Amino acid sequence: MSPTAERLQAIHERIARVPRSPAHAVTVVAVSKTKSAADVREAFLAGQRDFGENYVQEALAKMGELAGLPITWHFIGALQGNKAREVAEHFDWCHGVDRSRIAQLLSRFRPATRPPLNVCVQVNISAEATKGGVAPGEALALAREVASLPGLRLRGLMGMASPSGSAEQARAEFARLRAEFDALRAAGLPVDTLSMGMTQDFEAALAEGATMLRLGTAIFGTREKAAA
Ligand SMILES: *Cc1c(COP(=O)(O)O)cnc(C)c1O
Repeated sequence: MSPTAERLQAIHERIARVPRSPAHAVTVVAVSKTKSAADVREAFLAGQRDFGENYVQEALAKMGELAGLPITWHFIGALQGNKAREVAEHFDWCHGVDRSRIAQLLSRFRPATRPPLNVCVQVNISAEATKGGVAPGEALALAREVASLPGLRLRGLMGMASPSGSAEQARAEFARLRAEFDALRAAGLPVDTLSMGMTQDFEAALAEGATMLRLGTAIFGTREKAAA
């Protein structure tokens, strides 16, 4: 077994140990930023199908090298307006939508030949000011707008816990995102995705109802290159 396959197996074992209802399905998104196309291929060969990328040009290069593999590509980075067209044209999911302008650009540029782009609205649940995302009280309005735009399919919410917080703090922040998600459902929006939890906090996220975990280091090992 490759080291990546071994790490993936260990992650699935850890996920299975977190108590949850049989109806609670979980998807692992392998975050491959700074990793090579060969690394992605190795994870693919171990059964991994969903991959997350933060930088558009880096992602497009890997997509080109891996064309033909049935990979589901997730854009999870901070999205600038001038990159919206490439994200709309090349990705299957976009997790970081946090303003109306970006939602409108993604809608406009999504090719009619492709299924709608799956969208998560990013909510700032962290106590730290540096993270993107709408304030919790603004998630419903932006989610409604995404749901109304052609070419987009609202799937749910995405958030990140404070990187320097304690495990208890992460859990409280995830609970907050879960409450926002429940509010969307109560308002009648057809959401099914709660994208939260990274290598250091995914078990807490799962315990609070995460349906999508974004894991980089746990799958590929530490990143050598600094984030671009
Ligand atoms: C890099 C990144 C991840 C994965 O981080 P790890 O700690 O390596 O698991 C998840 N989500 C986002 C938005 C990221 O930028």
